[in-house]
Amino acid sequence: MPEMAAKLTITASTQRSELMSRIRSKNTGPELAVRQMLHAMGLRFRLHRRDLAGKPDIVLPRHKLAIFVHGCFWHQHANCRLASKPKTRTEYWEPKLSGNVRRDEEARVSLASLGWGVEVIWECVIRDREQLAGRLQGISQSLVSKSLIKHNGGISFAAGDGVSLADADK
Ligand SMILES: [Zn+2]
Repeated sequence: MPEMAAKLTITASTQRSELMSRIRSKNTGPELAVRQMLHAMGLRFRLHRRDLAGKPDIVLPRHKLAIFVHGCFWHQHANCRLASKPKTRTEYWEPKLSGNVRRDEEARVSLASLGWGVEVIWECVIRDREQLAGRLQGISQSLVSKSLIKHNGGISFAAGDGVSLADADK
């Protein structure tokens, strides 16, 4: 019965796509994009440190840096077109969204008080691979210049401003 076979195939593929969407929701596309790019840049990281405030998505332990990958709507990215609040059921959305924003801020303050750097990578930036690359390169460069400062006993100069390490030692 070919008809029956076709029906079974449809059911199986529907189940498969449901399963895939469930898997994807654990490791969201945007987060994966950030991880892949960080990895390509040679940065080593850990994921979902549950012991840290706000459960940062990505943690660079060596640099004591926590990275959050945030959806613009759920975390209410300021002045972002993706973050416009729903016009209906505001009694439901308003406390939910402002609660997210409040918890994000509490996590940031808590992490900073323990000496962690905190970066937020927004969904709208991730959607544009060039913007994302620029953002992550900026983070990577600031880590490099911070570790230069550490290794040189607090001499503050930025990488690439013309001062060589040999000059700084004199
Ligand atoms: Zn945004």
